[in-house]
Amino acid sequence: MSITENVARVRAQIAQAALAAGRKPEEVRLCAATKMNDAAAVREAIAAGVDCCGENRVQELVQKSRENAYLGAPVHFIGRLQTNKVRQVVGKVDLIQSADRLHLLEALQAEAVRQGIIQDILLEVNVAGEESKGGFAPEEILPLVENFGRFSALRVRGLMTVPPICQNSGENRKFFQEILDLSVDIGAKKYDNVCVDILSMGMSGDFADAIACGSTMVRVGTAIFGPRRYAAPQP
Ligand SMILES: *Cc1c(COP(=O)(O)O)cnc(C)c1O
Repeated sequence: MSITENVARVRAQIAQAALAAGRKPEEVRLCAATKMNDAAAVREAIAAGVDCCGENRVQELVQKSRENAYLGAPVHFIGRLQTNKVRQVVGKVDLIQSADRLHLLEALQAEAVRQGIIQDILLEVNVAGEESKGGFAPEEILPLVENFGRFSALRVRGLMTVPPICQNSGENRKFFQEILDLSVDIGAKKYDNVCVDILSMGMSGDFADAIACGSTMVRVGTAIFGPRRYAAPQP
């Protein structure tokens, strides 16, 4: 299957999941998770109509930007971001989905102030409390957004989560539901620098469940590009 065919199939599955949940297909945006795929693959996905691209690694973001891989499509950062690399990401991407710790927020704020811009971000939630993953604990989110006024150069657009890899479909619904509830709680109030309109959850294996639980952005890699070749040398 070509990337073009895969995007069409994923779109159809998104539409089906949305309609089954009584939602409109266009409420769910498709972010292509482009890690380890080259500029040509990224261009094909964009031509096939993905809404945006999500990069995990700063080096790939820099390299593909240089190669004009994104063709003007929105680019998001979705991976773990080291604070010493914020300069290569802030102001270069439309959305940083993986704002996962206080120290990073402070670094993003400082860099956005330096550039004189407002950077859109999502707060990443470590919904299952996994040691191996970044992200705020669910109970940290409300106190954080209540005091977000101090991050004058950041704007929270919503939440992002990467739940555990699940073996059986439906297993992650409880986690998606928990993050939906949290985002509804935040969205119901008015906090400085917070405007909740994006809920980024769902990947190749579980996006239909995420859409059933209110996701407005799915991040899909394998189902579009095929399996990643982890044997390739890592940058
Ligand atoms: C790789 C990645 C995805 C996509 O994963 P697939 O299972 O290949 O669809 C989504 N989100 C993040 C943060 C990723 O790193």
